[in-house]
Amino acid sequence: MSTRLISCWVGVVSLSVFDAPASAKPDTRVRAEIPAEFKWNFSTIYPDWAAWEAGLVDMKAKMDAYAALKGSLSAGPAAVLKAYLLDDEIGILSYKVYGYTSLQRDVDLRDQDTAGRFQQVRATFAKFGTAAAWFTPEMLTIPEATMQTWIEDTPGLAPYRHAILDIYRQQKHTLDEAGERLLSYAAQLGQAPTAIFQELSTSDIKFPQLTLQDGKEVTLSPGTYQGILNSNRNQADRAAAAETYYGAYLVTKNSYAAAYNGVLQRGWFGAQARNYGSTLEATLDSKAIPTQVVETLVEAVRSGTGPVKRYMALRKQLLGLDTYHLYDGGIPIFEVPDNHPYAEASQMVLASVAPLGVEYQTKMEKFLRGGWVDVYENEGKRSGAYSMGVYGVGPFLLMNYNDTLDAVFTLAHEAGHAMHSVLSNESQPFATASYTIFVAEVASTTNERFLLNALLAQTEDPRERFVLLQHAVDNIIGTFYTQVLFANYEREAHRRVEQGQPITAKVLDEIYGQLLTDYYGDSLTLDDFYRSTWMRIPHFYNSPYYVYQYATCFASSAKLFNAMTTGPETDQAAARERYLTLLKSGGSDYPMELLKTAGVDLTKGETIQAVIDQMSALVDQLEIEAAKIQN
Ligand SMILES: [Zn+2]
Repeated sequence: MSTRLISCWVGVVSLSVFDAPASAKPDTRVRAEIPAEFKWNFSTIYPDWAAWEAGLVDMKAKMDAYAALKGSLSAGPAAVLKAYLLDDEIGILSYKVYGYTSLQRDVDLRDQDTAGRFQQVRATFAKFGTAAAWFTPEMLTIPEATMQTWIEDTPGLAPYRHAILDIYRQQKHTLDEAGERLLSYAAQLGQAPTAIFQELSTSDIKFPQLTLQDGKEVTLSPGTYQGILNSNRNQADRAAAAETYYGAYLVTKNSYAAAYNGVLQRGWFGAQARNYGSTLEATLDSKAIPTQVVETLVEAVRSGTGPVKRYMALRKQLLGLDTYHLYDGGIPIFEVPDNHPYAEASQMVLASVAPLGVEYQTKMEKFLRGGWVDVYENEGKRSGAYSMGVYGVGPFLLMNYNDTLDAVFTLAHEAGHAMHSVLSNESQPFATASYTIFVAEVASTTNERFLLNALLAQTEDPRERFVLLQHAVDNIIGTFYTQVLFANYEREAHRRVEQGQPITAKVLDEIYGQLLTDYYGDSLTLDDFYRSTWMRIPHFYNSPYYVYQYATCFASSAKLFNAMTTGPETDQAAARERYLTLLKSGGSDYPMELLKTAGVDLTKGETIQAVIDQMSALVDQLEIEAAKIQN
């Protein structure tokens, strides 16, 4: 049982904001004064807190009933089915009970009452996690052949077939009771390196002061630093900002390396304890993903960095720089008026998905109309953007919409996630409705591509076209190339530990520095401190071997988008049908299988090559638009 929240990592993109002319945007950040049509309507989940309270009580009673089923499973298929059905009831309630608190908390993080109720829900889930721990070991006491017969003979078990067989698939990596207990003790200990990273990078870090060329003094917090990189046109300021900012991390470099060594050792410990050949294999096996996926991805991208180098050379030329550095990557080349009121943006996003059919559009229109998107920033609201599907109710999209082109793309992205939830929730029983992260970013990325195509079709102005194309290129660098470089780094570092080699800051600098050279070559001048920037990537410490999925989703999306938009119309129509089937299939099978059915094989280099080709074509177009502007 899990409550699902797709939290988005949206690439850092670099359009600067002009002073916005008058628009429909409310000029207030006081939530009560923002019109209801731009805010979530929580009453679709529960009419009031009393109803939520009743839901919580109901859920707890069902959790107790579930715990009481311990020892009953071997009685036969009816007993197994009873447990699964009850687990579904708990799961469906959990979405509502969790959603009602977490969504309300996110629109005002200062509200202590809501925060308290949210904690209460979290604690209830944690308690249930322990109370339900008997289930998997007890299932495994029933022989797989017996369970197969039970499934065949019991139609009610059909929706649970995949989940049940997956328990057996992982059986050879499950230890006996004593072994599992020992590992659960070690799990607590294993949190230490991640916690040390958190403290080093948040509590203990002292963000430095910097005097800019115009005499202005700034404190380089992450936000200020990013602001300088994205908008300060003085290269000397960007250089000083980068060197000073990373300097704050460098003073504790050896501690970061020691913490990261802990992460690597933890991974290898877990892999060996569960009879896996590598940390990569252990990590990917939970979703039955072959290690070949990461190997293929890394190898294809390593030999496909040509378009990135060409793009950097173009940037260097257009920005008029003598040398090009990593801190020059965020500065816009051309600026165009950038003002898209929300009403216009939602129409743009809606119109852009027309190729997916009227039914898709109609369903999207329903949640863009009002009550499901929390549009504007307000005091106390959580930053960023996400889509959260509440099963049986609908998708809830959080935005901090600010009328920029970036924000329009973010809306398209989140609407893609939301449509994935809508389609899978209405097509799947609860048991198989949730999709995994391995496919999640396909729907969002594909919608961004549709939006880009629609916007490009609307303008012949070379500057506007350049800005749009650059948005797409920067997105590929952030979501694809950079993430593969990260995955490549993780693979090298984990391998060192698996081969019994020492991990020190010097070793990690060498690995990371070599990768920067391999990926960017002489298209940039590599400043020495960038070799140590492995230090600050939270994913390396929080969730090893996670980031590659951004790249595989991006590649899947590129492949599907190509199939849906090029070639004979009958082929395109068939590809669109396969794509919609993918979205409707939720978590009914392993993600690799679902993607294969849609026409994507991630073990093949050609799938990855689709992104590299796309990047190359985009850079060609950028060069053409740039030539038009310069003439
Ligand atoms: Zn996303």
